[in-house]
Amino acid sequence: MRSRLETERSWISHDELRAAQLAKLRTGLRDVLATNAFWRARLHDVGGWDDFERLPLTAKSDLVADQAAAPPFGTNLTYPQERYVRLHQTSGSSGGHPLRWLDTAESWEWCARIWADHVYRAAAVTRADRVFLAFSFGPFLGFWSAFSGAERLGALCVSGGSMSSEQRVQDLLELEATVLMSTPTYALRLADVARERGFDLASSAVRVTIHAGEPGASIPTTRSAIEAAWSAVSFDHTGMTELGPTGHSCSARDGVHLIESEFIFEVTSDGELVATNLGRWGMPLIRYRTGDRVIVSREPCSCGSPFLKLVGGIQGRVDDMFTVRGVNLYPSQVEEIVRRYREVGEFVIEHRRERQMDEVTVVVEAAGSDFPIGRLEADLRQALGVRLGCRLVPLRTLPRSELKARRVIRL
Ligand SMILES: [Zn+2]
Repeated sequence: MRSRLETERSWISHDELRAAQLAKLRTGLRDVLATNAFWRARLHDVGGWDDFERLPLTAKSDLVADQAAAPPFGTNLTYPQERYVRLHQTSGSSGGHPLRWLDTAESWEWCARIWADHVYRAAAVTRADRVFLAFSFGPFLGFWSAFSGAERLGALCVSGGSMSSEQRVQDLLELEATVLMSTPTYALRLADVARERGFDLASSAVRVTIHAGEPGASIPTTRSAIEAAWSAVSFDHTGMTELGPTGHSCSARDGVHLIESEFIFEVTSDGELVATNLGRWGMPLIRYRTGDRVIVSREPCSCGSPFLKLVGGIQGRVDDMFTVRGVNLYPSQVEEIVRRYREVGEFVIEHRRERQMDEVTVVVEAAGSDFPIGRLEADLRQALGVRLGCRLVPLRTLPRSELKARRVIRL
């Protein structure tokens, strides 16, 4: 199903896109190279794509080290501090120290515009919608920019912060919310809570769900479970606090388009996504290693978008890859199988090294003791080609996170 907004859209050609990217980059770099100490030490002027490709890659660890050396914001600042109006922070969940990220009014407007013009547009969300954001509204960028983007669109935006799951379900039903935003895991959790309390989500006004933080909405079995529970169409969204909103799934439902009108994207030889943002010049990122492992395609998409597509969404975090008998695996591959079983609540992958061997156990939580754990093991072995042991634990015993479920636990 192609949305009306997508079909009405006129897209520019790839050559026009490349020319526009280079022009935006060169304009933005003018200020950065004049005043931003972090990038002045790393970059040279960019006349064309050859120059761009010679610029160094930058990793999160470089930024963390810079902020540690020059606290609290580091040296990646293009303007005097009074120009900045917002501070967000990364979770530091993947072993790193949290990064602080500042926005100017202009760069915040850029984030909100990307949401309105790209992410919401692809999901056919309009000013007539009521958008319920089932997040805690902590220091991460994502839900704040989603909120500002919905506001910019003219939709009614509802913060579901500081509420229990039951209150959120009740609130979004009473308010007749039409769009739910949450992590994919949390959408399933809300559905469980609704079922237990006797609320009927399938007859609610929610028609679209948009998910971030985990790759679930691009994993077919997880997406089907969410769509069945909510009787809605689910979309995936990608973004990072330090980069901004980078992508969204479309009506073709087979991956995530990267928003190339606002970013330059590259993929390293080992499959890591590298991004340069083209509208956040107060604290920009140039050739930034995202830590996301991806497969990209430029095949024409049925939705009409000319933008690069991440096939199947983000495959996984570079840090989350684990190896079993020489086979490299990502949690999303395990999730695709585990989510075939609707009775599973949460799951984690325990990884330990014993006598030079990688030992992996998939711990799944499910109600009752009659869960077919042997069948799940057989399904995993068939799909992944290696044996992963499974262990059953009672429902609600694994840790839950409102933002990103931590899938791999290294013991
Ligand atoms: Zn598409």
